[in-house]
Amino acid sequence: MRAQPQASHFVDGRYVEDTAGEVFENVFSATGEVIAKLHAATDAIIEEAVASGRRAQKEWAALAPVERGRVLRRAADIIRSRNRELSELETLDTGKPIQETIVADASSGADCLEYFGGLAASLNGETIPLGRDFAYTRREPLGLCVGIGAWNYPTQIACWKAAPALAGGNAMIFKPSEMTPLCALKIAEIFIEAGAPKGLFNVVQGLGAVGAKLVSHPAVDKVSLTGSVPTGSKVYAAAAAGIKHVTMELGGKSPIIVFDDADIENAISGAMLGNFYSTGQICSNGTRVFVHRSIKERFLSRLAERTASIVLGDPRNEETQMGPLVSHAQREKVEAYIEKGKAEGARLVAGGERVAPEGLEDGAFIAPTIFADVTDDMTIAREEIFGPVMCVLDFEDEDEVVERANGTEFGLSAAVYTADLTRGHRVIGRIEAGTCWINAYNLTPVEMPFGGMKMSGVGRENGRAALEHYTQIKSVYVGLGPQDAPY
Ligand code: NDP
Repeated sequence: MRAQPQASHFVDGRYVEDTAGEVFENVFSATGEVIAKLHAATDAIIEEAVASGRRAQKEWAALAPVERGRVLRRAADIIRSRNRELSELETLDTGKPIQETIVADASSGADCLEYFGGLAASLNGETIPLGRDFAYTRREPLGLCVGIGAWNYPTQIACWKAAPALAGGNAMIFKPSEMTPLCALKIAEIFIEAGAPKGLFNVVQGLGAVGAKLVSHPAVDKVSLTGSVPTGSKVYAAAAAGIKHVTMELGGKSPIIVFDDADIENAISGAMLGNFYSTGQICSNGTRVFVHRSIKERFLSRLAERTASIVLGDPRNEETQMGPLVSHAQREKVEAYIEKGKAEGARLVAGGERVAPEGLEDGAFIAPTIFADVTDDMTIAREEIFGPVMCVLDFEDEDEVVERANGTEFGLSAAVYTADLTRGHRVIGRIEAGTCWINAYNLTPVEMPFGGMKMSGVGRENGRAALEHYTQIKSVYVGLGPQDAPY
């Protein structure tokens, strides 16, 4: 098999297998070829991962922070030196084009490890003067963290969770989505090569049931999930039963607002990037594009023209700009939404059907799709589709568009395109979303906190803010005089 790993899990510094675990297949969605077969983790694997994680965490937290940071930065260097190989694997795992994975996945993971590696030694507390006495705070690790990933960015998600966790002195057990199990194993190998203690970053495979066992394990202190809102509420509830810390990176239905003074080409670039990159499988995508009525037809005709030139094909070819969806099941889900869009009266401007690049007739391809005249009540304007389907809505004035943009249970991202920067800041200030852009879209540098408001999530990844979600404060009061007591 083309991408069979040495074994399904990576625990305590080595590959391990337990053939008693349920078998699941990893499929390359461009061809339908089975590229690996893995076993879901059994209870024995989970217990081994927990025991080694707890052991490693103690050893790791006892190191000087600067030494921890050095290991993370070494891991970043190794990832960069193996970028080509890791990107090819990511392409097989997800179906995303190599043109994307070579710049956006392993390299973004490396940026994150480098950034948090640099911050590890600056996790200081504060000193609080209290007259004769004083107090100080220490930022301490939470302990053993569980990371659970979605399938769209397997390498990046593993690194975005591991880097702040490890920088803060924690250990992590990571469960990838069963659809993309391969990349996180490589990250686990790389941590060992970079000098991390065995067990510090374990990878166990499986479906939701394995994730659920990890989340409710009494020895686990924190859970960080990237996934859908329904899974998020289940995982949040299970974590609450054990009073565990959580980070929830969930779905979205984000607005991109294009005012009549915007640079249209720029706004179209943002809308295309925010709907078609990674075949539309990005949580922060701007899938509700609100365009001012006066420029709507100009916007649509140029958008359709540019969309027609997207190169769709084998994701292993450098010139391919759009690959298949992650799976055939995901394509069926997306197609059902397209049918709903048509049935509910949206105007299909582009795409809407399957495509079969030559030689890839069994792949899960779908054409980049644009609907216009979408209204707020349509299913395609309310639910997250997670595929290359852009909904264009029109609006007349600022107050109206702000209210409609906020009229969703989600609050992950938003953007405004306008030449009037005062308006840009004013409108973004009123939008209920955690990650926003003005005249840009979907840029997520590691320095900038990332996460959602409302049902889109709790906590933040990236930026200094992430460290607050992977450490806890201990306050220490220091008495410098006689103990006061009323007795
Ligand atoms: P899911 O919510 O289906 O799954 C996410 C992960 O949770 C998977 O590893 C899944 O395992 C696991 N899981 C499922 N049920 C449970 C459970 N009861 N307890 C513990 N773990 C469980 O999401 P998808 O994988 O389909 O990913 C797409 C979703 O992820 C979209 O909604 C998208 O918006 C969101 N997302 C959010 C991001 C963000 O940062 N805000 C970034 C990327 C995606 P398995 O799938 O193996 O069964």
